[in-house]
Amino acid sequence: MVMASAAEFVAVPALSDNYIWLLHDWDSGHTAVVDPGDGAAALSAVAERGWTADQLLVTHWHPDHTAGVAQVKAASGAEVWAPAAERAKFVGFDHGLGEGDRVAVGRWTAEVWEVPGHTLGHIAYILPEIGVALVGDTLFACGCGRLFEGTPEQMFRSLQRLGELPGETLAYAAHEYTLSNVRFAAHVEPANAAVAERLRAVEAARAAGRVTLPTSIAEERATNPFLRAANPDEFAALRARKDSFR
Ligand code: ZN
Ligand code: FE
Repeated sequence: MVMASAAEFVAVPALSDNYIWLLHDWDSGHTAVVDPGDGAAALSAVAERGWTADQLLVTHWHPDHTAGVAQVKAASGAEVWAPAAERAKFVGFDHGLGEGDRVAVGRWTAEVWEVPGHTLGHIAYILPEIGVALVGDTLFACGCGRLFEGTPEQMFRSLQRLGELPGETLAYAAHEYTLSNVRFAAHVEPANAAVAERLRAVEAARAAGRVTLPTSIAEERATNPFLRAANPDEFAALRARKDSFR
């Protein structure tokens, strides 16, 4: 749970390793649900807190992010915001978003960035007023999404762009992949002291069952090999190595 100017985030564990993020604005009472891959899990997490789902924010069409959209919408009347380019790919779509669009989230405004690579239509929601980026499956703690639809060049650019956000920005990613990611980072950057320290911290956090997100952009710049890659070729080689890393 992170408090920032009346914003509260809740990580709702779903499926095998997804997080559905709830973003609650304590001043207006507004609740946004990000990437509801499991409708029942999202609805009960919202209801447990006495909140209602007012808005669904989708980063990309994959079922582990959208399978619960129709159920949450039917139960709550929430409106659904999602990448315009992925309109036909899941059930429950209301409002299409693309690069440069702005959407009100509680009292704040999210800026929409197109961050292709994991899927071609993948978007991120940037909320500068509270220093937050909802990054879906683009940027993970110490990692990045697999290239299912985009090219290494596209993903490299998407990550570089996120990496240019202010260092204190908190990135809310959609999977608990951190331990495997940091192990890979320690493998490819054995001399990076920040990575070694992060590995110890994440091992302890996971052993205690703690959520390892959000992560800060500054920490990613220091420890995420995919953000630290110098060019698309280096990025592509790293991504290929990670795909077969065990
Ligand atoms: Zn995905
Ligand atoms: Fe996913």
